[in-house]
Order: sequence, then C-alpha cells, then structure tokens
Amino acid sequence: MSESARDTLNHRLSNVRERIAAACARAGRPADAVRLVPVSKTVGPETTALLPALGCAELAENRPQALWAKAAAVPGVSWHFVGHLQRNKIDRTLPLVSLLHSLDNTRLLEALDAECAKQGRTLDALIEVNISRESAKGGFAPDELPALAETIGRCPRVRVLGLMGMAAYSDDPEAARPAFAELRQLRDAMRDAWGLPLPELSMGMSGDFEVGVEEGATLVRVGTTLFEGLA
Ligand SMILES: *Cc1c(COP(=O)(O)O)cnc(C)c1O
Repeated sequence: MSESARDTLNHRLSNVRERIAAACARAGRPADAVRLVPVSKTVGPETTALLPALGCAELAENRPQALWAKAAAVPGVSWHFVGHLQRNKIDRTLPLVSLLHSLDNTRLLEALDAECAKQGRTLDALIEVNISRESAKGGFAPDELPALAETIGRCPRVRVLGLMGMAAYSDDPEAARPAFAELRQLRDAMRDAWGLPLPELSMGMSGDFEVGVEEGATLVRVGTTLFEGLA
C-alpha cells in the first residue's frame, strides 16, 4: 500500500475530527462526547488495515460477508455492524461484532438473544428507527417504538444502548436537522418507556455528521468523506 493512501487518510481524518470538535463546541458539548466510526465498506482490506494506526480502533461494515473477510484480514479493530443482518448470518457474525447499529425488527432481536445464549455472551445494540420515513429504508417506525419494551424485556442478552437513524439524502445538511432532533426526542422518550439509560445516538454520515453532532449524536458513521477515490 502506497504511502500516499496513508497520508490521504491521515489528512482526511484530521479534517473530520476537527469538524466534529467544532460542532461539539458550537453545541456546548465536550469534544470526547462523539466517536467517529469510519465505514470502510468501499475500500479493501489493505486500506482498511491502515486505520488502527491512524487512531481508528472502531470501524463499521454493512454486509456480513465483508465483515467476515475484513475481521479475518485486519487485526486490532473493534467492529461495528451497520447494515441489515439476515437471521441466517447471525451465528457467524455475532462473534465479530462489538456494536450492532441496525436492530431493525423484533424477530432479529429474539434471534440475537437466542444466539447470545448459545454463544454465552451479550451483544450491545442500537434500535434502528426509520426517521426519514422512506419506504426503502429499514428500521422501526417511530410509533412502533413504545411497544418494543416487551420484546426488549424478554431479550436480556441484547443490551439496547440507544437509537440509530438516517436522514433522507439531501445536498443540504440542514435538511437532516428535523429528523435528527426527532431521533434525540424519541431516545429521551424511550428512556422512560423502556426503563433504560440509552446513552448512545448514532446519527450523521458524510453529508450531515456536523448536524448530527449538534443534535446530540454520540456516534457518527462516515464513509465517503474519508474513503472517496481510495480502493
Ligand atoms: C455507508 C454507510 C454510512 C456512511 O455513509 P457515507 O455517506 O458514505 O458517509 C453510514 N451508515 C450506514 C448505515 C451506511 O451503510
């Protein structure tokens, strides 16, 4: 791998970190309130392997097969999973995941709890909410959330730590603000409804992560801005 890919990544990471810190400052939040989680899905194992040494110990993938390959090839990473997880891929994926951002249906929640029992572990996870209300996007509708309390209570091996959401695509970052504010309000409401502290809010991607941070994100998932043009 060329020196220049490392330099490019290092430069882009500094830039994104500065932008996160500035957004934290604008919102009166401490700079360490937000974790940058690069989504490495568009680059191969060699480029991905540069990241831990550049200060990125947490990385995300959105396809199970890609996660399996990367986890085998790139050591020293705490892997997040941000895509749809089919139930037939749970057994092989679970051992590799430190945080699942995309818990998007109740049968998946039940299946994950059962597999955790089998593997003698727990799983940290976020409930994905369809805040853009686009039918092609996954996640629970906001009005489905209160009733989830029952399933969450029955599945104690899956530790629900918060919510994840994606805004509708737009060239204007400000367009994401209402959806992100809604996700934060839903998180606050579900603290009571579910009786859980829900410390995490995963919201913000390349086009809108600063708005996500201003609205309370604790995790931002950034791909294109870091990896564009790299292989
Ligand atoms: C790819 C992906 C991202 C990163 O998106 P960019 O716009 O490329 O930064 C974030 N979240 C999820 C769920 C993704 O699949």
